[in-house]
Amino acid sequence: MTNNSSIAVIGGGITGLTAAHKFQKMGLHYEVFEKNSLPGGAIKTVKSGLWQVEYGPNTMLLKDKIVKKFLEETGAIGEKVTANKNAEKRYILKNGRLEALPGSATEALKTSLFSLKGKLRVLAEPFISKSNNPDQTVAEFAERRLGEEILDYAINPFVAGIFANSPDALSLRHAFPIMHNLEQEYGSLIWGSLAGAKKRKESGRITRELISFSGGIGQLPTAIASTLDNIHLNTEILSIEKKLDGWHLFSNKKQYGPFNSVVLNTPLYKWNTDFLSIEKEQMEKIQSVYYPPLSVFCLGFRKDQVSHPLDGFGFLVPEKEKRSILGALFSSTLFDKRAPAGHHLLTVFVGGGRQPKLATLETEKLLPIVLDELTDIIGLDGEPVFRDHIFWPKSIPAYHVGYDEILQVFNAIEDQNPGLYLAGNYRHGISVPDCILNGLKLADRVAEG
Ligand SMILES: Cc1cc2nc3c(=O)[nH]c(=O)nc-3n(C[C@H](O)[C@H](O)[C@H](O)COP(=O)(O)OP(=O)(O)OC[C@H]3O[C@@H](n4cnc5c(N)ncnc54)[C@H](O)[C@@H]3O)c2cc1C
Repeated sequence: MTNNSSIAVIGGGITGLTAAHKFQKMGLHYEVFEKNSLPGGAIKTVKSGLWQVEYGPNTMLLKDKIVKKFLEETGAIGEKVTANKNAEKRYILKNGRLEALPGSATEALKTSLFSLKGKLRVLAEPFISKSNNPDQTVAEFAERRLGEEILDYAINPFVAGIFANSPDALSLRHAFPIMHNLEQEYGSLIWGSLAGAKKRKESGRITRELISFSGGIGQLPTAIASTLDNIHLNTEILSIEKKLDGWHLFSNKKQYGPFNSVVLNTPLYKWNTDFLSIEKEQMEKIQSVYYPPLSVFCLGFRKDQVSHPLDGFGFLVPEKEKRSILGALFSSTLFDKRAPAGHHLLTVFVGGGRQPKLATLETEKLLPIVLDELTDIIGLDGEPVFRDHIFWPKSIPAYHVGYDEILQVFNAIEDQNPGLYLAGNYRHGISVPDCILNGLKLADRVAEG
């Protein structure tokens, strides 16, 4: 690609912004088109008086040198905040009570979260042979290697916390490739983790840090966008078309182009055949990717309203407990300045793939259900002094068993449409750091032409 070439980035989510930042650094001409008035897509921080709440992601796990360097280049690193030390404890609900997840081998032996039988079953893990199934569900994998109890009281809530979904709805290889690789490479999660830890030390990987930014995680897209010269906000692209002179983009007011390349960073459920001319079967496959609905409640309470010390990251609720919430983050314990002095901020998640209908209830119906659960679980007394309800009709793409087929469709679309590049959380990872890494890789791919 030459310096005269031009690139359109449709969608100012974290992947598109990252790619655009790299284009700018490479001296390539690009333009970003974002439908909303703010960049960031799923990443959104909202301030209301002294409350600072997250509508989408709350934290990002910084463990990669490349991501750290990117944060330095964008200037975002200057505002980085690390999760408070007292937020390390993670709770799981068991038999109606919050129990801390063990943080060390000694704690694992002592914990009452798992029975003796469950613990012995984990110790047998290295002796379980590896699966021949190339695409197993997370649930099949966890039950076979670690036993039913770990599946129910560790893996099930963990998957709800990351994907807002259930372990039997996701492919291990696509959703948790690290676990898949540990089994394939080392034949055991336990041996693989020990060997991996040694390797990580030797390769000088950076110490893992759970981070946000002083102004919330929304400060990241804002920082990236402030480095970009060419970003059109409030500009929804309604269709894209390849003509003889290149790619043309159409909004309801204007036509843009021609561009040599187009990076498509819009969620899959936004695609249709009016927007992009691809084969009907390809579109049908793409539309089969499920994004479960999710409700997020940001709730503020006076400290004297909550009997639990909220001394941790938050809690997760296993499906077996038959509750109406997936879990909650203790947001004001996690980071400072999220709530006024003397108050707690909680972020509660409802619905997902586990209870999709529940997520869709309107605030006045759902809030009392959430408050009842909090009353029971953390000893809440009374009404919130602050509340905000965010409904995600389509939250996070589920990498289902058979997702290879979807990835093949993406490859085929790119092969059939030279100059078109597909990038977002629907491909190779949903976390913010994964999207950053994918945005950087994509920029290199576009530059190479
Ligand atoms: C509730 C929730 C909690 C999460 N928690 C975490 C977490 O704690 N940690 C973590 O690492 N990850 C978390 N994630 C995942 C992560 O935030 C997302 O996977 C990631 O931000 C998605 O980025 P993306 O690049 O795919 O773009 P998206 O965020 O999907 O952005 C796409 C952009 O395209 C724009 N757009 C759409 N159509 C058009 C059009 N036609 N024209 C122009 N623009 C268009 C949209 O307005 C949007 O800005 C969470 C996600 C959600 C929903």
